[in-house]
Amino acid sequence: MSKKLYLYLNPTLFRYGFPNHPLTTKRYEYFLERYSRVKDRFLECVVEVYDFECSESYLELFHSKGYIEFVKRMSELGSGFLDYGDTPAYKGVYEVSLTSVCATRDGVLRTLDGGIAVNLAGGWHHAFRDRASGFCVFNDIGVAIESIRDRAIKILYIDIDAHHGDGVYYPYESDPNIYIFDIHESPQFLFPGTGFSYEIGSGNAVGTKLNIEMMPGADGSQLLEAVKKIDEFIGDKEFGYVIIQAGTDGLKGDPLTHLEYDVDSFVEAVKYFVSIALDRGVGVTLLGGGGYQPEVFGDVWVRLVEELCGML
Ligand SMILES: [Zn+2]
Repeated sequence: MSKKLYLYLNPTLFRYGFPNHPLTTKRYEYFLERYSRVKDRFLECVVEVYDFECSESYLELFHSKGYIEFVKRMSELGSGFLDYGDTPAYKGVYEVSLTSVCATRDGVLRTLDGGIAVNLAGGWHHAFRDRASGFCVFNDIGVAIESIRDRAIKILYIDIDAHHGDGVYYPYESDPNIYIFDIHESPQFLFPGTGFSYEIGSGNAVGTKLNIEMMPGADGSQLLEAVKKIDEFIGDKEFGYVIIQAGTDGLKGDPLTHLEYDVDSFVEAVKYFVSIALDRGVGVTLLGGGGYQPEVFGDVWVRLVEELCGML
């Protein structure tokens, strides 16, 4: 039996966005509008997932109780900020962010023995144990890692969002079982100002992380050159699961970054990373991450669903 692509379409997920903000829910509306027009092509491959287990207790795998309570209180209040000004609170932000975490967690568990999971409203790689940051409330990636690490043991995390995945890198900087390969715009020019190429892990985890800095204006061919560095990075490393944060904010025209990837190269990059998982017979979850051109986001993800189905 061929493997499936599990596509998370729970409506609460698609409320992950903020009022008067670059991260709006329009990106999901564009995706759904385009997806519904072509979905008949994917009937053999895509399993649409609307329901999954969700418990507040999952958050504690990565976040402090105090921070979880803080987000809950701010969500009831419905105003103010969850950080120093990038991540606004709104009524229901707690439930929406929790749902995102639960979807990513469900995706990795469902595909632990193979297959692909896609959560477009996931990949919140700036959230830390006790704080929100950069539009990220709860770190679904951290919760997912903690949910499967007793079974997958070693996990490969790949991040091609234009921003450095600091909320994943630092918590696992000295953990040799979490491999991190992160391509992003140079921290000299972009938030969060970390992810220098000399940051390669610490202690006995040195060499288990790679940060690749892209200069402003970097194009698709430069992206693909950087992608190829994963072969040497992986070497003879073994891992039981792959998580990919495939943020589209490095695509040309994005209002928040200065990278200029073209869509074809970006899609090729994602497919290359997915093939790393499929060739080894391990499962892979893809997360939507950033991407602030709503129509581009919708187009690229519909295309990715189609291309990934072609790989299964
Ligand atoms: Zn980003």
